[in-house]
Amino acid sequence: MTPESAEVVIVGGGVMGTSVAYHLAKRGVTDVVLLERESLASGSTSKSAGGIRAQFADELNIRIALRSMAEFQALERVSGIGYERNGYLFLLTQEEEVESFRNALALQHALGVPSELVSPEDVKELIPALETSDLLAATYCPIDGHAAPESVVQAYAGAAAAQGVRILQATALERIAVLGDKIVTIETSAGRIRTDTVICAAGVWSRDVGNLAGLDIPVRGEARWMHFTPEDGGLPEALPLTVDFSTGFYFHREGTGLVFGGREPTIEGVASHGTRRLPVLADLPIQSSWWGFYEMSPDHNAIVGEVSQPRRFLYATGFSGHGFQQAPAVGEHLAELVVGDEPTLDLSPLALERYAGGGERREQFVV
Ligand SMILES: Cc1cc2nc3c(=O)[nH]c(=O)nc-3n(C[C@H](O)[C@H](O)[C@H](O)COP(=O)(O)OP(=O)(O)OC[C@H]3O[C@@H](n4cnc5c(N)ncnc54)[C@H](O)[C@@H]3O)c2cc1C
Repeated sequence: MTPESAEVVIVGGGVMGTSVAYHLAKRGVTDVVLLERESLASGSTSKSAGGIRAQFADELNIRIALRSMAEFQALERVSGIGYERNGYLFLLTQEEEVESFRNALALQHALGVPSELVSPEDVKELIPALETSDLLAATYCPIDGHAAPESVVQAYAGAAAAQGVRILQATALERIAVLGDKIVTIETSAGRIRTDTVICAAGVWSRDVGNLAGLDIPVRGEARWMHFTPEDGGLPEALPLTVDFSTGFYFHREGTGLVFGGREPTIEGVASHGTRRLPVLADLPIQSSWWGFYEMSPDHNAIVGEVSQPRRFLYATGFSGHGFQQAPAVGEHLAELVVGDEPTLDLSPLALERYAGGGERREQFVV
């Protein structure tokens, strides 16, 4: 049943919304309603490859990654989220790529990330089945890895609900009523809730939710496909999440098989890059395929913060392909903004206002 009022309403039951709920509950804020119009994790979260990496080019994303990795480790101990740290391997075939990854390595090292530049011979030793003749170099980071997105959502949602957070599935936000500069009520598909604080964690649909509060959040959907084969082609057990950076083809181990994806909307498109890089892929049966949205921002960096008008409207979207792994640190940050705690990480450079003030900050390493 829809409650009459709530201190905080979260819109979206993906990894971001449930992380915010978890972090609010951890701070004692439990008069919270989370609205999910479908079911938990049904948006981009369940479509994700679950990759978690510290290999970014933007300092803030590296800091977010390190903070988030610590929480994924804690969640793994308590709930078992399938967190595996077999590294990320970026394969580089162009001089400019080597240059920008080399620069990023220096930044990563300054922040304590154990990433390294490796040779094509090292790559061949690590994964003998890869075609490496056109590689100039690669980068490898052993603390990178992946986890199961739905398990993370269940861990967050379960812990939040145990503290009293109400999670309403099949319930959509339909309207936000603002009086002066204050949010006063929201309308859902199941009734009205009095609240003065709304947190938009609606993924690619955040633009629509922002519109309900008179805001323009510049996020757009970009469809990305993934495929699963139940066989692993004899690849090593401890397989890094491997990315052919120039084509976007990537793969990682999933149980007894492999998941792989790329930028192309058809299996033939992805396979043309995939079978060139990983010839054994041509012999493996495809069991399932799916697609979801990357929620793209103009500079490929997250849009996170709180607007001044209306007051108490907070948002987290625009993750451009890396929102799953950023959920721990970003959820923590939004909870800190709600309660007025000193932020653990200064994410103010990611605020929506940057687009009006010429403060765009581009993340180059988008897979
Ligand atoms: C193929 C693919 C691979 C990816 N791989 C990775 C990866 O390896 N690593 C990584 O970090 N990220 C990856 N991503 C990106 C990642 O999945 C997303 O950035 C992340 O899941 C975003 O989470 P979210 O909670 O913000 O959004 P979502 O999971 O989309 O959740 C938003 C929710 O809001 C709900 N909603 C919308 N409007 C309303 C409304 N009006 N009322 C109520 N509910 C509403 C939706 O139903 C949805 O469930 C990948 C994405 C795709 C598609």
